[in-house]
Amino acid sequence: MVRENLEAVEKIIRLSCERAGRPASDVTLIAVSKTKPLALVQEAYAAGARDFGENKVQDLLERIEAMPSDVRWHMIGHLQRNKVKYIVGKVAMIHSVDSLRLAEEISHESVKRGVETDILLEVNVAGEESKFGVSLEETAALAEAVAKLPAVHVRGLMTIAPFVENAEENRLIFRKLKQLSVDIEGKSIDNVSMAVLSMGMTGDYSVAIEEGATFVRVGTGIFGEREPWR
Ligand SMILES: *Cc1c(COP(=O)(O)O)cnc(C)c1O
Repeated sequence: MVRENLEAVEKIIRLSCERAGRPASDVTLIAVSKTKPLALVQEAYAAGARDFGENKVQDLLERIEAMPSDVRWHMIGHLQRNKVKYIVGKVAMIHSVDSLRLAEEISHESVKRGVETDILLEVNVAGEESKFGVSLEETAALAEAVAKLPAVHVRGLMTIAPFVENAEENRLIFRKLKQLSVDIEGKSIDNVSMAVLSMGMTGDYSVAIEEGATFVRVGTGIFGEREPWR
């Protein structure tokens, strides 16, 4: 089932890229395997998936151990500073950086280990109380501050859009994140790239791609329903 789902999602990604006049190579699918049995993760790997997303440090570490070393792991969940040391050097990207203090910790651990860490700044575009992330207004200043830290590199922005029935309701959210990335790019901050836009989940990745997503994070659409988490 995972293989069929993955192929269906990849097809929708290709069609969305076509509609948006973008090459399909612009968009990377991150298979969000959180809470799902390892067997399903292995099935996705066998079907060709190489980018996987997890939102809990413990799960991430277990899976890194269990899976082949060519998997690119993405930390997509809220990250506490005291857990940074466990994942630095092991993940391809941390998508959920929303404070200078967290970025400083990532920098500190990266220097200590002699590695470079790519991060995204998480933006709470809709200003939802229940969500992590910096506001649209604070993001450029955070990028400027993080830019000065050694061994950590801002590669772009990430957002978790509100849960909506109709994906169209999130189009403006995605458009605002894209616009923010263009604005920050325009500042030409040393050591800050806006190449990556991590936005779009099972319910709305097609719209996110039309609005410029380069990473889409799809869980349910590949692995099936989870216990409700929000
Ligand atoms: C769970 C999760 C996803 C995937 O959600 P689906 O709706 O199952 O596709 C994407 N991004 C983040 C940050 C998540 O926590």
